[in-house]
Amino acid sequence: MSKSTVTVRVPAKVNLQLSVGPREEDGYHNLVSVFQAISIYDDVTITKTHAGSGITISIIGDHTHGVPADATNLAVKAAHLIEKEYDFEIDAHIEVKKSIPVAGGMAGGSADAAAVIVGLDALYTLMMTRDKMFELGSQLGSDVPFMISGGTAIGQGHGDQLTAALSRGTYHWVIALSSVGLSTPAVYAECDRLRAGSTISAPQINDQLMQSLLASNSKAVGRALHNDLQPGACSLRPALTLVLGVGEEYGALGAIVSGSGPTVAFLVEDEEQGLDLAVALTASGVVGSVARAIGPVHGAKVI
Ligand code: ATP
Repeated sequence: MSKSTVTVRVPAKVNLQLSVGPREEDGYHNLVSVFQAISIYDDVTITKTHAGSGITISIIGDHTHGVPADATNLAVKAAHLIEKEYDFEIDAHIEVKKSIPVAGGMAGGSADAAAVIVGLDALYTLMMTRDKMFELGSQLGSDVPFMISGGTAIGQGHGDQLTAALSRGTYHWVIALSSVGLSTPAVYAECDRLRAGSTISAPQINDQLMQSLLASNSKAVGRALHNDLQPGACSLRPALTLVLGVGEEYGALGAIVSGSGPTVAFLVEDEEQGLDLAVALTASGVVGSVARAIGPVHGAKVI
């Protein structure tokens, strides 16, 4: 008997490297992005409903503010894309249980779109290959293919040409969340403004970072963390500089604004150092809330 409901668990991501090339004529930037999937998850449950009811969505959980519960939600867009691609009508309710911060540079919207692709494939036995999932995902957003693959990966082009990265070991993260998000286009615009007049070269994969991941050398990974969007995010949100400073003071191995921010990810030695830093960040009063996570973890998968 075919299933009537499916739940997909999908992680958040942090960037270990985000190198941004000059603004192209089409307004996009060529990127080199090294992503790691971390253990903060949204759970997306898709349930078949009666014929003619169409696609509906509800949002529950810790982070619902600012998430549209309508056709503009990336999860609904993913379902419409699949309807079009496979030429059938979907009557289903999508419930997104959000734990990934919204507009935090952790690809929460992309994660939910990835979960819907994986979930509808299972629910309607569409037999999609991974490549097909990636192809559909990249039409919805450049981070979507990575949220399907998970692990650690290098994204090139607009971030969507994905190659798995060779990485060993488990990394411990402390994630400083802000109660107010930052708009990704605004951060790119600020980055362009700050770099106006400078010569920007094409982005390159950081070999030091890749070797450190392969060697499971978390200290060297910490030193290699780099995000070209960080000055732009800090310029729009000066408090981020204070947040980064707290991590430095408590001996984090490295700190990076994730994606376009305002989430800041600190790499720490182990669980114990993570706990100490989490307490210090909470006491500092400069962050909205703090989470601890490990990476790399799996991409979107049916649970
Ligand atoms: P990225 O790291 O990919 O740039 P982000 O983590 O900064 O993204 P998201 O959490 O994906 O940002 O949300 C950005 C905006 O997308 C939100 O402010 C919201 O309006 C819209 N959005 C659409 N669908 C979703 C969704 N399923 N979850 C969260 N936000 C969504």
